[in-house]
Amino acid sequence: MTIKLDTPLESICRLSLFQKKALGKMHLKNIEDILRHFPTRYGESGAVKAVEFLTPGEIAVVFGKISKLKTGKTFKSRVAISTAELEDSTGKIKMIWFNQPYIAKMFFEGNLVRIEGKASERKDELYFSNPKIERVSQIPEGISDSLFPGENNHNLSPVYPESRSISSNWIYHCLQKIFKSGALETAEDPIPQEILKKYSLPSSKTAFVWIHAPRKKEDAEIARKRFAFEEIFFIQLDRQKEKYITQKEKSFAISKKDAEIKEFTKTFPFPLTGAQNKSIEAILNDLKIGHPMSRLLEGDVGSGKTAVAAIASLAVVTTLPPGKFGLPTQAGNLQVAYMAPTEILAEQHFESFIEYFSKFKLPVGLITGSGAKKFPSKSNREKWTKISKPQLLKWVANGEIPILIGTHALIQKTVKFKNLAFIIIDEQHRFGVKQRMQLRRKHDVAPHLLSMTATPIPRTLALTIFGDLDLSLLDELPPGRQIPETKIVLPHEREAIYERVREELKTGRQVFVICPRINEPDPTKELAMNAKSVMEETKKLQEKIFPEFKIGTITGKLKPAEKEKTMRDFKDGKINILVATSVVEVGVNVPNATVIIIENAERFGLAQLHQLRGRVLRSSYKPYCFVFADSKSQKTISRLKSFVNAKNGFELAEADLQQRGAGDLAGAKQWGVSDLAMEALKNIKMVEAARLEAHALIEEGFELKKYPLLAKRILEKTVVHME
Ligand code: ADP
Ligand code: MG
Repeated sequence: MTIKLDTPLESICRLSLFQKKALGKMHLKNIEDILRHFPTRYGESGAVKAVEFLTPGEIAVVFGKISKLKTGKTFKSRVAISTAELEDSTGKIKMIWFNQPYIAKMFFEGNLVRIEGKASERKDELYFSNPKIERVSQIPEGISDSLFPGENNHNLSPVYPESRSISSNWIYHCLQKIFKSGALETAEDPIPQEILKKYSLPSSKTAFVWIHAPRKKEDAEIARKRFAFEEIFFIQLDRQKEKYITQKEKSFAISKKDAEIKEFTKTFPFPLTGAQNKSIEAILNDLKIGHPMSRLLEGDVGSGKTAVAAIASLAVVTTLPPGKFGLPTQAGNLQVAYMAPTEILAEQHFESFIEYFSKFKLPVGLITGSGAKKFPSKSNREKWTKISKPQLLKWVANGEIPILIGTHALIQKTVKFKNLAFIIIDEQHRFGVKQRMQLRRKHDVAPHLLSMTATPIPRTLALTIFGDLDLSLLDELPPGRQIPETKIVLPHEREAIYERVREELKTGRQVFVICPRINEPDPTKELAMNAKSVMEETKKLQEKIFPEFKIGTITGKLKPAEKEKTMRDFKDGKINILVATSVVEVGVNVPNATVIIIENAERFGLAQLHQLRGRVLRSSYKPYCFVFADSKSQKTISRLKSFVNAKNGFELAEADLQQRGAGDLAGAKQWGVSDLAMEALKNIKMVEAARLEAHALIEEGFELKKYPLLAKRILEKTVVHME
């Protein structure tokens, strides 16, 4: 059988049921998957030593003859183990491998091997636990003279992300087999030759070898660069294709005079900020053209995105479809759909929109999983009323309700609009790209799209993952907003801060406590660990610190409905303290919450901290942010300090990107960008090159007929899978 990239792993490595499951969870199914499972780093291996000279705790390489190979199970937990002994001219040492029963089968008595690992000590005896092992044809000379370790040509040994049943070592061996199998010879490079040449990037074949078995550091680096380029290039192709197709579609042309808009904004209780005005201008320009707008409105929490959405909506709903005449407030106008990620946010927007539009006598509908509402009510023109979903949908379908706000319920098949012209997506990072496209594609006339997000991200990342969107920034907060008083709290100050917080609670204010999310290679375990840290903190606060107050918790483990209930209870003041991971709802207004405590702040990105802090920004009282850092390291403290006085999240996002070490922090995961590509995003030139090349190919023909491999790849993996 010829081994190709799509050959399943079990045809080349023997897999236990456990391992199969573990590999499944790590999304490693076939040869290519594991070839693309890149090392997180390259460990410098220890010095080459003779057995006699090994000392406890040292990392070393030894060469010798292997014997006494055995497999078994540990007594208690029934974990598979392999054991063996290694002998060189100076002595013998035991070796033990957990969860790697195949080791005993891969080697035979008397084989010459190279062992690399940590010499551990137990009961006065040295042994290697889970060392890396590989066969060698001969033992290098001069080892027994341990004072002069020979030139070590294995000093770049790859270290892979592992899980309990799949060790880095196992992956290493599997890759060795793959390299021997000839599978790489069948690898075709999806990136066109010209592009590789232009940017001096290696072919995929070469890059696979260099990334897994580099001879020197530079080889590994250039291979990583190639794969990072590839990832960004593919995302760009996908987005540029989307953009190309969208731009060709027809939309309702909506043109409004400035005066009309001014009339409307005059009814607002506040003047707009400069940034809001600029965004509105850009949006109104897009809406005129007759092709769909695709715009992302990015702005910190509290920067007033809802008001911008409302003004754009007004422009739409006071416009008649072409060929129709009548009063602008009559049924049959163009319609708006406004989607929010949770019921509580959808309701909040419903209420804001009622305020914005009530003077214009424009009906507003709300549809969520739990029901439907309509404003105004027949009996009381000032209030909304509950109505049945079918009734609401009927009015949406016949055009009587121009504005429909809702959750995912909005994208269900049963929801039909008469003339849907404009879609707004709030907290857009919560929806996948596919959902965004879905929402738009189901209509004959393509609706305009405004996505909104409060998550500040670096420009290179925005250019990549939002390559199909135009960008508007709200980089200015309404006047009078004060940034919460922010304090980095050292461990010995904890008690004092709790007392200050108690004072706030006593006057009736409310408090957020945020615990970090724990990143775990095994996603199912991650959820449990995050929940644990939140539960432990809740327990501590409830029993030891704030027994007199009511504490609620939100963890990722709760069902959406349960999360919403707790959030609502907090909003309604039934809970004094809310403990949660950083997933706690971004957009919900809780004006009475004045304090946010962030635990293990060193684990968060700066931009994320800033965003969390924004949660108490809307308060009508003086807000506080207390940042607890367990690490005393000077680096951590100075990093956190740059956050204390920062006014805007975008600068912090850039700082995060520059400072972030490979594999550090969360972030990348939620954007569907690998750590490798994230590293490359520090380099604006590379991102621009990928964008330029992708754009050029799509302009040549968006179906990529000349590049069948590319076309296939884009179809297969529309790379982003967001939370
Ligand atoms: P976000 O950008 O986080 O979605 P919102 O749209 O919810 O922010 O606005 C937050 C608060 O700020 C709301 O109470 C809103 O009425 C108010 N607001 C919006 N724009 C302005 C402005 N230009 N001046 C003063 N207050 C404003
Ligand atoms: Mg909002």
